Amino acid sequence: MDLPKLAIAALGGTVSMQASHAGEGVIPTVSGETLLASVPELTTLARVTVETLGLLPSASLNFEFLLSVLSWARYQVEQGAIGVVITQGTDTLEETATFFDYLWDRNEPLVLTGAMRSAAQVGADGPVNLLDACRVALADTSQQRGVQVVMNGQIHQAGHVRKTDSLALQAFSSPVFGPAGLLVENTVRYLRAPTPRMLLPLPQQTTQKIALLEASLSADTLLLENILELGYDGLVIAAFGAGHVSARWAAVIENIAKKIPVIIATRTGSGATAQFSYGFVGGEIDLIRKGASMAGFLCPRKARILLWLLVGCQRQDELASYLYPPL
Ligand code: GLU
Repeated sequence: MDLPKLAIAALGGTVSMQASHAGEGVIPTVSGETLLASVPELTTLARVTVETLGLLPSASLNFEFLLSVLSWARYQVEQGAIGVVITQGTDTLEETATFFDYLWDRNEPLVLTGAMRSAAQVGADGPVNLLDACRVALADTSQQRGVQVVMNGQIHQAGHVRKTDSLALQAFSSPVFGPAGLLVENTVRYLRAPTPRMLLPLPQQTTQKIALLEASLSADTLLLENILELGYDGLVIAAFGAGHVSARWAAVIENIAKKIPVIIATRTGSGATAQFSYGFVGGEIDLIRKGASMAGFLCPRKARILLWLLVGCQRQDELASYLYPPL
């Protein structure tokens, strides 16, 4: 039987980590080929191409490198792959998934996975996550869904998924929305139909800088006051509650929003920002009046990715239409 073609790339992360010497911390050294050898069943499901594109902890990935990974993934689809799987560290998985999702203009699935336990650890979850991710990438029902994150038997939509636990096996969730699907007895089961996605062209520049600052109780305004002078092209605030800051912060944000786009997201970890509810100084009605945009359901980190991409293709004026897409 002619098996479908699947492409896998390893970027590093815990899934690729082991200790060089007993008693030392783990570091990324395990190649994509070795990861593949941990899931021999895969050879019965697909003809697999595997490449090690990086061996980095995911905190050290950057947008330029991700653009090169994206172009590798596009090439794999042009060469006949019906799906692409990328393994990476989980620390920034929610951000890379969003980055790729805004740029992945193919019907074929791009699936990201990783592991919470390193390769040599008892109960390592890398092999099962990789096999599950490949099952998702090979499923007909994964077409037209963009980028999915597969971890611990769950499939999460890129725009919704967050790392919500630092060390637990069940580290990923999609607050409010829930997982898009599950792996049930090795079968891919989606819980809802694909939803329309917001796509962006590739950025023409990569030098833009977007700051992300978190509001906190009794915080000073020193960093905020210097955002423009430091040359930032955009600002995201991880704000209190439904999108609120102190009156002191609101005054500075008003000045900044005259010059560069400012997005107000919630720092709570779940839920949307408000638009029409609170009238105090620093509340969302005031911040909107001062020129800021509310992030809706986008978390602060995903809002920063969106703004970086929009500025990169000179579409920052269209920010509002990207913040309130149809759900
Ligand atoms: N827990 C992280 C991981 O899953 C640590 C390192 C990283 O993100 O690369 O991979």
